[in-house]
Amino acid sequence: MQIQDLGEQLLNGDRRSLARAITLVESQRADHRTQADALLEHVSQVGRQAFRIGLSGAPGVGKSTFIEAFGMILIGQGLRVAVLAVDPSSARSGGSILGDKTRMNRLGRAPQAFIRPSPSQTHLGGVARRTREAVSLCEAAGFDVVLIETVGVGQSETVVTEMSDLFLLLLAPAGGDELQGVKRGIMEIADIVLVNKADGDLKSAATCTQADYASALRLFRKRAQDPADFPKAMAVSAMEDTGLAEAWKEMQTLIAWRRKNGHWAARRAAQARHWFEEELRHALLARLAEPRMQTRITELGGQVAKGQHSPTAAAAALLRDLDAGKAVQRS
Ligand code: GDP
Repeated sequence: MQIQDLGEQLLNGDRRSLARAITLVESQRADHRTQADALLEHVSQVGRQAFRIGLSGAPGVGKSTFIEAFGMILIGQGLRVAVLAVDPSSARSGGSILGDKTRMNRLGRAPQAFIRPSPSQTHLGGVARRTREAVSLCEAAGFDVVLIETVGVGQSETVVTEMSDLFLLLLAPAGGDELQGVKRGIMEIADIVLVNKADGDLKSAATCTQADYASALRLFRKRAQDPADFPKAMAVSAMEDTGLAEAWKEMQTLIAWRRKNGHWAARRAAQARHWFEEELRHALLARLAEPRMQTRITELGGQVAKGQHSPTAAAAALLRDLDAGKAVQRS
């Protein structure tokens, strides 16, 4: 199929075309990359914008149960929902969250939903760059909400905040030292902390945990760009479907506020600049990794070590070689 046709079908909201387009951006082949770049450039002209929500939490806190229940609420409101994942473990093992077909059964079958596992790449940076492009493709395909899930292990939250408008942290009720397991950095980026499993025997523990987080969040910061009662902590039950509609209302309030005050647009602009720099860094490193350049680096490094060149002069010489080179290798 021609890229133009794929682009048109994608813009018509066709889910199979969206899946094919994402496969194209995830491909490591140079010819696919060229097509992917053309496709992304084409569809980005349309300027559609979804509500991008980042979601993180440790394994077992109920992320997939939450996404399923929350996604069904959104669909019930007439919205189309896409779910993507940034899985740092897929970078190592080739496996991925969302890969398990039994997760999100109802949502997976809904025609208004689109679910896509994390791409398998060797670096988290690669996973993140391709997921960021998948987010753009979902927006172009007319999805109203894009949920980007990641496992709470640190680095991956940061990359997810770079592609989302709002960040949710999902926690399970805890006894004792509630805050111990959550890294400070994650607390700093969370807009809403959701304490899940507020049902049955766990309900009172969840309420306590929620109260603890509410006071901890007050200590963490006041963000000048947000309403005074954000960031906030809420207790929910993904299993019993309680508190989810309220949480969605809070998310909408926060985004409406940020849109009105220009912070939403400023954040998107800063993100675009961030990804431009990431792509640039990656492209330059890929060129330096070419065998021809590696040989030159070793050669010049040896000469610098022997005192034949200053480090500065050697670096400048290498950059001249890079300018002279023609092959641009991208992944
Ligand atoms: P994930 O690893 O974060 O995606 O977590 P899952 O959604 O797979 O859930 C892990 C376990 O917690 C499963 O056994 C779920 O049934 C259970 N669980 C998820 N949400 C809730 C909830 O709201 N209440 C209770 N009691 N259990 C839940």
